[in-house]
Amino acid sequence: MEDYQAILRVFDQHQSFALSTHVNPDGDALGSELALYSFLKDLGKQVKIFNTDAAPKNYRFLPFYDSILPAKAFRNDPPEVLVVLDAGVLKRIGGYLSRSLVPTKAIVNIDHHTAAEHFGDYNLVETDASSTSEIVYRLIRHHGTPIGNERALCLYTGIMFDTGCFRYSNSTPASHRVAADLIREGIAVDEVYRAVYETLPIGTILLLSEVFQTIGTTPDGKIGWLYATQEMFRKTGTTRDNVDGFINHIRSIDTVEVAILASEQKHGESKVSLRSKSSVDVGEIASEFGGGGHQRAAGCEIDTPCEEAIAQLVVVTQRQMSK
Ligand code: 5GP
Ligand code: MN
Repeated sequence: MEDYQAILRVFDQHQSFALSTHVNPDGDALGSELALYSFLKDLGKQVKIFNTDAAPKNYRFLPFYDSILPAKAFRNDPPEVLVVLDAGVLKRIGGYLSRSLVPTKAIVNIDHHTAAEHFGDYNLVETDASSTSEIVYRLIRHHGTPIGNERALCLYTGIMFDTGCFRYSNSTPASHRVAADLIREGIAVDEVYRAVYETLPIGTILLLSEVFQTIGTTPDGKIGWLYATQEMFRKTGTTRDNVDGFINHIRSIDTVEVAILASEQKHGESKVSLRSKSSVDVGEIASEFGGGGHQRAAGCEIDTPCEEAIAQLVVVTQRQMSK
């Protein structure tokens, strides 16, 4: 509670704010950011959002989506306060922004990642929260401002996304209660689901069929993987953004405990997503490669082609499993 009051005091005492979140922003990154944007606007503040990567188009239904500015729109006009949401570490807002978007008064860090660094002058890091959106909900409630329909839509989207539609172990009684409260604000949960998950371009499904050709598992079946190459993106008219969710197919295999999805980046290096079912802490595996995340979902970048990156990850994962 102390943290909430301290952060609301920072909001109260300053006038200009910039918000940012991690690269390749997802439902929670955007939902928490846009809800906080709306809250600060209602408090009469000057607020700008700067994100390194564009928000995926399927999130266009979110209120204030058009308020998000690209990193290059930030030009040496520092805000008093920078609020970083859902980022884990400051550099995940992107190289340029993390170096240049330096506030004159304070950095506020709002996050729920287990490996979240306390890089802010004020840190609201709650690792038991389902999502950063759940924390922003609490912050607004703590202030006493009504949530309202627009903020509810943003926050519900964030919680729905980070709980895998209320299927993952972070779907706690608390997160369900918050979701219930948000639904009561009059949002249509079926429309949110459809907007986020059922607006795929056909290229994504064509890409899936390519990526499925790469399925592999260890002989014991406990580690499974997939990868996507630049050639597959080119052939299907897609980009790395389109692989979102593919990893769940691997995790859904009965024997699999750890799922790996590697995507080839522009210069041949790999962006990797990791998921686990119950016993392995993939956040620890990712941090061995300079990445991070949570116990059940994590990611990192590895400076080699996909197959080599997967081979390295399998070695580290097997070591983790035999502990
Ligand atoms: P995803 O696989 O969906 O991109 O990410 C899963 C989780 O791992 C998210 O919580 C995300 O923040 C974290 N994550 C993904 N990639 C990286 C990375 O390169 N570095 C760090 N620190 N965390 C990552
Ligand atoms: Mn999150």
